[in-house]
Amino acid sequence: MPDYFQNTVDHNMRSGDFALETMGLSPTEIINALAGQPVCPKCERLAFRDVGWKENRIATCSNCGWHGKTVTYDEYITKKLYR
Ligand SMILES: [Zn+2]
Repeated sequence: MPDYFQNTVDHNMRSGDFALETMGLSPTEIINALAGQPVCPKCERLAFRDVGWKENRIATCSNCGWHGKTVTYDEYITKKLYR
């Protein structure tokens, strides 16, 4: 598991942003749940799939309001798009 991925999950859990921990999931299960989710390129938090996700990977960020074409968390890590 990439360190960055693990650190992000740890951080999100600590900051209380992420409710999966309270659902009794293991870190691996959480990673798998995260992998297909869109990530906001502006603030690097998880975004929501929006209208147009299927065709153009359109997502909206609930944190900063960013809206547009993005990649999944999995691709974000693999392609080293993180800052
Ligand atoms: Zn954002």
